[in-house]
Amino acid sequence: MKIVVVGGGVLGASTAYQLAKRGCAVELFERGEPGGEASAASLAWLNANAKPQRSYHDLNVVSMAEHLAVARELRNDSWLRRGGNIEVAGTDEAAHALRAKVARLHEYGYAAIELEPQDLPRYDPVVRVHEDYRTAVFYPGETWADLPLLVHELLRAATAHGAVVHARTEVARLLVESGEVTGIVLGDGSHVRADRVVLAAGSRIGALMRGVGIEMSTAGEPGATVVTAPGTSALSVLLHLPGVVVRPDAGGRLAVRSTQADRSLDTATWTLPQETVTDLIRRAAHGLSDVDAASTRGERISVAVRPYPVDGLPVVGFWPGVPGLYLITMHSGATLAAVTSRLAAAELVGGTPSALLDGFRPDRLTTPRPPTPAFDPHAAEAET
Ligand SMILES: Cc1cc2nc3c(=O)[nH]c(=O)nc-3n(C[C@H](O)[C@H](O)[C@H](O)COP(=O)(O)OP(=O)(O)OC[C@H]3O[C@@H](n4cnc5c(N)ncnc54)[C@H](O)[C@@H]3O)c2cc1C
Repeated sequence: MKIVVVGGGVLGASTAYQLAKRGCAVELFERGEPGGEASAASLAWLNANAKPQRSYHDLNVVSMAEHLAVARELRNDSWLRRGGNIEVAGTDEAAHALRAKVARLHEYGYAAIELEPQDLPRYDPVVRVHEDYRTAVFYPGETWADLPLLVHELLRAATAHGAVVHARTEVARLLVESGEVTGIVLGDGSHVRADRVVLAAGSRIGALMRGVGIEMSTAGEPGATVVTAPGTSALSVLLHLPGVVVRPDAGGRLAVRSTQADRSLDTATWTLPQETVTDLIRRAAHGLSDVDAASTRGERISVAVRPYPVDGLPVVGFWPGVPGLYLITMHSGATLAAVTSRLAAAELVGGTPSALLDGFRPDRLTTPRPPTPAFDPHAAEAET
């Protein structure tokens, strides 16, 4: 079976790998560099920490575990960082909300350990304790991923199974014949035929769907992650501090972001104002004993539009009424890539559809009245 995958982010790369290892002839097309858009800007925190809906929480939990299976199959887990996550509440109100969340997570059987703030350095010696810290929680099962590295490893494995990856090759439109998607059309007008086309084009899926007369949007709010210079900190845990989230990045760098900083993004220049970068670094340094705010510089700022289906929930499956067209897109794609790509590949090659994907199917988007948002992605990222 010949399958074209449009998009080389974490979802396209994962799906291409899962299909290639099942013996499909896979061609993946990526308009830029693989892993260069949302997957590059992502905090890539693998979690089911604040998912409002039980089935969605469960899907995230399954995927967190399945990343380990991917690491074993790839024989490389260097992209998977298992440090856990600490969340600190800096006000009484935040502490109250945090305890309520922990109670719900315990009902779900999810590991969340409440800490006294003075215990924080035992979990990571570079975490500084402040008087206004009311309470803290350690989530031992949560991890983060180096997504560009994971994308690289997935595509390496996919090509080892015969997949062909076309970087810097934009898909101009879908090829539709007799109401059926039979391939793609490239910018130079050439056609690539396939039995099925998988749209994993993230926030740009809407443009390709519009080409076949379907109005839908997967473009959410833009977000930014600042990465500092090498050797910034020995931090080893992901840390949600009041007003900032910070995690280690390769070479002693820190990845720092906040939803508040996202709001100051300059969409003309597609970057953050310098004072916002300075403020993010100052907030991170406030919580870390080995970071000097004055001498720490942002080395890179990655900005991307969040892929965000209209109700915030994943969209995985064949598009109803258009044979040959399959979608895989979602927010929290870093967490969900492992399970959703595996299940997508299984059904693309004719396997039984999984009940785990019930409620996340495209048909809910085809009703005359689109679904209302199920949750706020910013709240789901649990940032302030
Ligand atoms: C700031 C930020 C923070 C986030 N934090 C988290 C988090 O902590 N945890 C989490 O689980 N998720 C998080 N996410 C969400 C997560 O990163 C995304 O859900 C995931 O990266 C989506 O992967 P993707 O492959 O669908 O999209 P992308 O990585 O955007 O890949 C889509 C690819 O399709 C390509 N493309 C588009 N159109 C075409 C075309 N016509 N032809 C060829 N190629 C095309 C693009 O160039 C792009 O590379 C965050 C996202 C952002 C932006």
